[in-house]
Amino acid sequence: MNFKNLNLINPIIRAVTEAGYSKPTEIQEIAIPHILEGKDIIGCAKTGSGKTAAFAMPILQLLKRHTPEHKEIRTLILTPTRELAMQIEEDLGIYSKYLPLSQLSIYEGISTGSLLAALRKRVDILVATPGKLLELDNQRHIDLSKIEILVLDEADKMFDLGLVNDIKKILKQTPQKRQALFFSGTMPISLKKFAETTLNNPVNITI
Ligand code: AMP
Repeated sequence: MNFKNLNLINPIIRAVTEAGYSKPTEIQEIAIPHILEGKDIIGCAKTGSGKTAAFAMPILQLLKRHTPEHKEIRTLILTPTRELAMQIEEDLGIYSKYLPLSQLSIYEGISTGSLLAALRKRVDILVATPGKLLELDNQRHIDLSKIEILVLDEADKMFDLGLVNDIKKILKQTPQKRQALFFSGTMPISLKKFAETTLNNPVNITI
């Protein structure tokens, strides 16, 4: 199996090849075709499995495929901590090197003023910790009504940190019709139930 077999487009394959990836990891092999088909996903995969690229690569491809002229944020990636948000932003930057897509990462510690300036430009993908997103959102600075793809990264960790109500508030502002991808190292009952009520006929992937 290689990246071409997964029907990834050349600009993405070129970027990951330059990053030193020679073939997809197991979670990438299984998840990428479903994500490209537009399916919802519950992926049980730990950090180190290549799960970030498993959602980031097909998302970049989906956003590229129908690039209309738009100004709205089209993908939202929620992640529990500042460190993870920074890591996802860095990875997205690597994979999107040859694509005309832009991302912004917002997390505790960045000044609201600089984020507001960044939000005035086009943002295709927003990576955020729930707390910081709500802080900006409470001031009506963020429009989530055109979100096409939503990712919960390390969902179990966000539940452990007590962020479930924040997440629910955020999800309410996204459209009903959207593709949702949940990734979690573990799948406790509370998270499973939440996923059942939030996702639409999801594909379960455990590796
Ligand atoms: P993650 O599970 O997303 O935290 O990824 C773990 C590490 O694997 C990161 O440093 C990625 O850059 C790297 N990685 C992701 N996909 C691949 C791949 N297909 N081949 C080699 N390394 C990869």
